[in-house]
Amino acid sequence: MKLPYIIIVDDDVQVLRAIQRDIRNQYREEYRVAATESANEALDVIKELKLKNESVALFISDQRMPEMEGVAFLEKAKEIFPDAKLVLLTAYSDIEAAIRAINNVKLDYYLLKPWSPPEEKLFPVVNDLLNEWHAIYKPDHEGIRIIGFQWSPKSHELKEFLSGNLVPFRWLDAENNEEAEQYITSANVSKSDLPLVVFKDGTTKANPSLAEVANAVGLKQKATEKMYDVVIIGAGPSGLAASVYGSTEGLKTLLIERHNPGGQASSSARIENYLGFPSGLSGAELTHRAITQTIRFGTEILTPQEVKSIRLQDVYKIIELADGTEIHSKTIVIATGIAYRKLEIQGLENFTGAGVYYGAAAIEAHACRNEIIYMVGGGNSACQAAMYMCKFAKEVNILIRKDALKQTAASYLVEQITKTPNIHILPNTEVTAVQGGRVLEKITLKNTKTGAEKILPAKALFIYIGSAPCTSWLDNLLLKDEKGFIITGRELVKDKSFHTHWKMEREPFMSETSIPGIFASGDVRFGALAGISSAVGEGAMAIRFVRKYLQEM
Ligand SMILES: Cc1cc2nc3c(=O)[nH]c(=O)nc-3n(C[C@H](O)[C@H](O)[C@H](O)COP(=O)(O)OP(=O)(O)OC[C@H]3O[C@@H](n4cnc5c(N)ncnc54)[C@H](O)[C@@H]3O)c2cc1C
Repeated sequence: MKLPYIIIVDDDVQVLRAIQRDIRNQYREEYRVAATESANEALDVIKELKLKNESVALFISDQRMPEMEGVAFLEKAKEIFPDAKLVLLTAYSDIEAAIRAINNVKLDYYLLKPWSPPEEKLFPVVNDLLNEWHAIYKPDHEGIRIIGFQWSPKSHELKEFLSGNLVPFRWLDAENNEEAEQYITSANVSKSDLPLVVFKDGTTKANPSLAEVANAVGLKQKATEKMYDVVIIGAGPSGLAASVYGSTEGLKTLLIERHNPGGQASSSARIENYLGFPSGLSGAELTHRAITQTIRFGTEILTPQEVKSIRLQDVYKIIELADGTEIHSKTIVIATGIAYRKLEIQGLENFTGAGVYYGAAAIEAHACRNEIIYMVGGGNSACQAAMYMCKFAKEVNILIRKDALKQTAASYLVEQITKTPNIHILPNTEVTAVQGGRVLEKITLKNTKTGAEKILPAKALFIYIGSAPCTSWLDNLLLKDEKGFIITGRELVKDKSFHTHWKMEREPFMSETSIPGIFASGDVRFGALAGISSAVGEGAMAIRFVRKYLQEM
């Protein structure tokens, strides 16, 4: 455990040395003692300590100092370490100032100079104060801290990225958490610079990019090998499964993810249909297990890194990343899945991440405590999210265009929802407008049968209205269906243009695309059964064909 600090400030070097010596001799086993002649320097040190997650138990400051009076110094120090005990060193003539300070700054004690013998005049007082401090002291979270506004899209993005990459962090809401102010002061930033990220070593970054955060927390963004056996694009369940199988089979495997690993599944509050987990598990837990497993087998993961295109050079594949770097591989598995369709309402994009969310129920759950919230969509995802959010929100309203939920969702979910008193289904309803300032405040609902509209207060709107495959970045490199799903295996042979694309003697393997050595797996593949189990199965299967292809090379 890190020892807490006692900080002493006195511009008179002799007095400083004397008190530092006495305090150090007595307390050095349990405290670190720092002493300085300058109040300004002490304030800089205090800010640094705050950012480094250190604790200060006691400040001792002389009253008469040229840079600022001791009372003013203690007042500033208390803003950063509010629980620390404050002792003012005074000459007899300053007693009045000290007594005033007891009320104004909540000074804990004033100590008259000289304090000898310390066994009688100094240590008993300091012992009491340190005991009091210990009684209320709680060690701070060791890891990263994010200070920001609850409803800011950038804060949301950072939280989602860190949790998705299994990086623990502590969130401090700048509006409701007193400690947030201490970090803002310590980092010398203003509220307009938020979100502020304070890393373990005390360094800070205001409004950082995901790449900057990824670098600082040690997530890899540069590939180490010159040539990979297989590069897997997308770290959803399918890509993660492919990476586990690739690595266990001894292939040089690289997994690239543009956001955080886990894909759609990571936003699932409860997966109840995954083999081997009879009481279900959350998407975050499944992702956690999969990442731990794949890293253990030696997969390299790059995140956040987006693949922009694929180029071919003979039988080799060149993968171009958004940051301009290139990666070479013998084979590729595309597991980029599908992305949520956006709800087309004017001005809605202004609130994305600030009250409007696409599939982010789990991460925003606590912010919705005791609030009235809305879910758009009547599919399984919306129902699962509603079941999760009803434990936090006062009221969850599911807006569906159809007459009944049973037309669009699995029956076990419909049954759970019907039995939950704070979930309401609003049939034949759509959102037609949104309003708010910095964050979403109101939504307009329209009854599609009667045309009647009403405006209601809404803290959050979660949207689950279907999706499209993430394949636009591939342009026309591969054969896709009219919706953009990648065609593979036998389905390719049925395509009119198959022979223009395919020049090999053998037929494409089951998950192979129209380019030999490039495979597709999971939701992005035409004809795939959407769902976690099939995505995982397809990821594993793709590796089997990767091996076969490598044997032919
Ligand atoms: C809220 C919710 C709840 C669900 N619950 C269940 C459930 O309980 N049971 C179930 O069986 N299924 C469930 N599903 C469906 C299931 O999650 C998906 O079928 C599954 O995640 C598909 O896996 P995938 O790996 O094919 O694709 P995805 O999960 O979509 O992952 C694709 C990944 O590729 C990344 N990517 C995309 N483009 C690029 C690029 N150019 N460069 C780099 N990376 C890229 C994406 O960021 C993403 O992480 C749920 C889905 C949602 C949204």
